[in-house]
Amino acid sequence: MCGIIGYTGKKNVVKVLIDGLTRLEYRGYDSSGIALIKDGKMSVLKKKGKLAVLKEELAKHPISGTTGIGHTRWATHGAPNDVNAHPHLSTGGKIAVVHNGIIENYRALKEELQKKGYKFASETDTEVIVHLVNEYYDGDLLHAVQKTIKRLHGSYAIIVIHQDEEHRIVGARKDSPLILGVKGKECFFASDVPAILEHTKEVIFLENGEIADVSPDGYKIFGPNGKRAVNKPVMINWDISQAEKGGYSHFMLKEIFEQPAILKDIFSKRIVKNEIYFEELCIKPDEFKKITSIAIVACGTAYHAGLTGKYLIESIARVPVWADQASEFRYRDPLVDKNTLLFFGRAHFLRQDVPF
Ligand code: GLU
Repeated sequence: MCGIIGYTGKKNVVKVLIDGLTRLEYRGYDSSGIALIKDGKMSVLKKKGKLAVLKEELAKHPISGTTGIGHTRWATHGAPNDVNAHPHLSTGGKIAVVHNGIIENYRALKEELQKKGYKFASETDTEVIVHLVNEYYDGDLLHAVQKTIKRLHGSYAIIVIHQDEEHRIVGARKDSPLILGVKGKECFFASDVPAILEHTKEVIFLENGEIADVSPDGYKIFGPNGKRAVNKPVMINWDISQAEKGGYSHFMLKEIFEQPAILKDIFSKRIVKNEIYFEELCIKPDEFKKITSIAIVACGTAYHAGLTGKYLIESIARVPVWADQASEFRYRDPLVDKNTLLFFGRAHFLRQDVPF
């Protein structure tokens, strides 16, 4: 999964963005880029390859700004190259957007926008977002983003800037993580905590469907219904090394060695007085007895955990279990019936306040 960072404040924006993206490198990516506003003018720099390539380019063609957004991309639509790298700009270059996720109805939106005369520079699904924001923009970036996300199907964490509103960043998320970091008049957006931890420990985890509007007056968060939401910042107790590799030379080693502590932590909340305890599970014991098959639907590591789960569950429950790739499962017509129990695994997201 790729990375997002955004910043408005008095610090050196380029440094905040590049340092933030460096902290997110572990997520994997194929290209990177930043867009900045200075004195009402947008500049953008994006390159295929590692952040080192972007840094070299920055050394040759320095840019600066007071507000900026940055991205490491993991291509889903369009080859990894300089043009498809984020940020994407509106025609005329006043608006810039970065996006994590997939816009599933991008073809229909692209056709609609092309009929209106919009020209597309990239092959990405993301580019429809910036043209939609442009289409709806009437002098208020928040309104334009609110209208835009109503048109999007799929998953997204986006942050958007407009050169006519120099110190403002609007971010929104659905099914892709996005957090807001606050520190006095400074505000940060990021896809994960390590990106901003050296600047602030006060973090707001945006909920699905929420929009955050950051300006020199502070930040405001709105729920999917457009009403103000009250999300209190949580204090993150990790230091950067905890949030990153935890002293190991590779993330894989860190994840392997963390397993005993993490499992203990997870299980301790689920075993009460020697009984297995799932407070939020509403399946009754007699319903469990009717289950004739179990599907574990997940991706990546969670899918591999599902393969292990198959062995464990089958050996204890004596019910057939299969593990399935979520990306295949959702587009198939899977053989499930009312007696199939489905487990949906999700990617691990560093968040301490959400129970497993
Ligand atoms: N779907 C977008 C693209 O291909 C975003 C990919 C990502 O999450 O990095 O550009």
